Amino acid sequence: MRFSQLLCISVLLVSCSQAKDVDLLTIYTSRQPQLIEPLLEQYKEKTGIEVRLLSGKAPQLMERIAVESDMTEADIFMTVDAGVLWQAGEKGILEDINSKILNENIPEHLRDASGKWFGLSKRARTIVYNSDKVSTDELSSYKDLADPKWANKLCLRTSTKVYNRSLIASMIDADGYKNTKNIVQGWVNNLATEVFSSDTQVLKAVSAGQCNVTIVNTYYLARLADDPTYSNLKLHWANQDGRGTHVNISGAGVTKYSKNKVEATKLLEWLSSAEAQETYAGANKEFPVMDGIDVGQILQGWGSFKEDLILVEKLGLLQKEAVLLAQEAEYK
Ligand code: FE
Repeated sequence: MRFSQLLCISVLLVSCSQAKDVDLLTIYTSRQPQLIEPLLEQYKEKTGIEVRLLSGKAPQLMERIAVESDMTEADIFMTVDAGVLWQAGEKGILEDINSKILNENIPEHLRDASGKWFGLSKRARTIVYNSDKVSTDELSSYKDLADPKWANKLCLRTSTKVYNRSLIASMIDADGYKNTKNIVQGWVNNLATEVFSSDTQVLKAVSAGQCNVTIVNTYYLARLADDPTYSNLKLHWANQDGRGTHVNISGAGVTKYSKNKVEATKLLEWLSSAEAQETYAGANKEFPVMDGIDVGQILQGWGSFKEDLILVEKLGLLQKEAVLLAQEAEYK
């Protein structure tokens, strides 16, 4: 009796551990865990599949996947910025995924052509100004901020941040290297202060009147929206008479070494679905990749905007040129 009980328990353990292997996915992510954990809980309730997060900085996680190769537990690599996703693709750590659902849910310009990575939220980078000093009619494009009329009125985050590299890359694609360098040099000439190390710091400097205008990702402004201290910060959609406001992505791809590629793809498909998009994008006040999703009051308040439809993989392709350009323009 005792022996058969033991046997039964050991059989259960074996089957439990086998089931766990199938029912567990691992994401290596540079995105803040609290932004995605509620969704993964929802996914577990829905499918029984537990999703584990291993958090870290994107370059280290990419390197780790490459070094671990066949031994890696990473089924999915998730990060922000098309430039970083593109690098992961170039590094050979992502699998080409051909999924009808992903291809339908995510617009073509927000994903890799061969299916290595997919945009799961949009991150617009645009102009924010101090409404005590500037009115929206005075603003138009990123290029206009290079005009001497903004001398000593512009604050910027450092060009070493990938967000600015990707913005510059989009400008190189649209206007060419030489014109973009002139624009960036104009920005540098107009700086009222040293460059800042975060979008939040630069927004606070604009609100405090150290400068009148800046360029940031909109979710940083959304985070300050409920604080009356910063009520003089207002958003202007850049480039509305031209190619539209610069849009980057957060996104993910299935790793080349995953043993659960089918299940990993299904998870990405779900994250791109209408059911998950509101929470995925809304957690960080970003924009969903598909239309018709509720974006909440703050984002709605900014109104709709025309977005630059550049293939975001070009933000990766032109990243090196963007770095060189910023150096040549002495944009620190
Ligand atoms: Fe950010």
